[in-house]
Amino acid sequence: MKILAPILEDVLKRNPNEPEFHQAVKEVLESLEPVAQKNPKWVEAGIFDRIVEPERQIMFRVPWVDDAGKVHVNRGFRVQFNSAIGPYKGGLRFHPSVNLGIIKFLGFEQILKNSLTGLPIGGGKGGSDFDPKGKSDNEIMRFCQSFMTELCKHIGPDTDVPAGDIGVGGREIGYMYGQYKRIRNEFTGVLTGKGLTYGGSLARTEATGYGMCYFVEAMLKAKGNSFQGKTVVISGSGNVAIYGCEKATQLGGKVVALSDSNGYIYHKEGIDLAAVKRIKEVERKRIQAYLEVHPEAEYHEGCAGIWNIPCDIALPSATQNELNEEAAKTLVKNGCIAVGEGANMPCTPEAVEVFLQNKVLFGPAKAANAGGVATSALEMSQNSMRYSWTFEEVDAKLQSIMANIYKNASEAAKEYGVEDNYVVGANIAGFLKVAETMYAQGII
Ligand code: GLU
Repeated sequence: MKILAPILEDVLKRNPNEPEFHQAVKEVLESLEPVAQKNPKWVEAGIFDRIVEPERQIMFRVPWVDDAGKVHVNRGFRVQFNSAIGPYKGGLRFHPSVNLGIIKFLGFEQILKNSLTGLPIGGGKGGSDFDPKGKSDNEIMRFCQSFMTELCKHIGPDTDVPAGDIGVGGREIGYMYGQYKRIRNEFTGVLTGKGLTYGGSLARTEATGYGMCYFVEAMLKAKGNSFQGKTVVISGSGNVAIYGCEKATQLGGKVVALSDSNGYIYHKEGIDLAAVKRIKEVERKRIQAYLEVHPEAEYHEGCAGIWNIPCDIALPSATQNELNEEAAKTLVKNGCIAVGEGANMPCTPEAVEVFLQNKVLFGPAKAANAGGVATSALEMSQNSMRYSWTFEEVDAKLQSIMANIYKNASEAAKEYGVEDNYVVGANIAGFLKVAETMYAQGII
């Protein structure tokens, strides 16, 4: 890296103690070096300097009272990273690991991911270090109401449209939507991932997992291959993993493992998805409860071991940096041919390198998991029209969006001389539209 090296240096210096943000920026700037060489006018206009600096960062206190009457204080975040091509768009994550650096890495990734969808959405992300695990519905509600009481001052259907992420699903979106509506006295599409009775889109719940499989299927198809008859390992057991499992199975694959932050289940005969949905979506239990229904399956403590299971396709869909170099080497050794990132940045840079060097088809998160936010954008369109499309209509749009993402990422990779490198391809394809727009809009 030559032209962009000082920008990375500056990011490291000015944003101390944010390793995930550094990691995300480094990967992108490395991919963009040839773009900078080709477009000196963008360098002169400070496009690269500006894109790594959030337009706005909001941090706030979130006080709430638990069922026993005890007061708790959490920290709330919303990073409005880039609004060049549309209102800020991106999820809210509720997890004890959340801090400003994590939200900045996610917000930064979201700029390019959202651009890749081809839809008019800018990049943002938010959340809190609140831990929803073990909390009652009433505690979750009170937390969400307190969080939205502040957040509602900064968002709006044409300004910033949050959605879910880890720890934020339909229940949380419902409580937050209710509080927004009450305070602002307006019924608008200010959040996505809403319930179907108040403006949610059909297929939004399924979209991230489905989209990931459509992307992986596109990578496989280009090499004359498919999911048919393949053994699949998916980490996580949230929304992305569950609907990834559903689509991988529909496409002819056999999913044999899922996990949560405590451990993983291995079911050689294939995962019983109905049981998983009941455990995770209805009963909100740990994945270990799967053994109560299927005692013939195995449960192992700790989640890293899941990558030792031999598979053809690996879909890391839990969280950032969950798959390291050693796990990548094991996957390669066991004959894995394709990896699709369902979570955001689940593979460490060293792991990605192992996959690329061994010609494993690698779908980076920005491309592979963009189906979720793309369908959020479709939810925004339906809300603006005060109309809703059928499941089939939304799914058909999702399929064509994922096909386009594949096409744009692979063409960009080819154009820049790194055929089949979808990491570089996705970064460049996503960046070009944002850069052109930022240039057209002047120095702001
Ligand atoms: N949290 C999801 C993501 O990482 C979805 C965001 C959205 O729908 O706005 O892209």
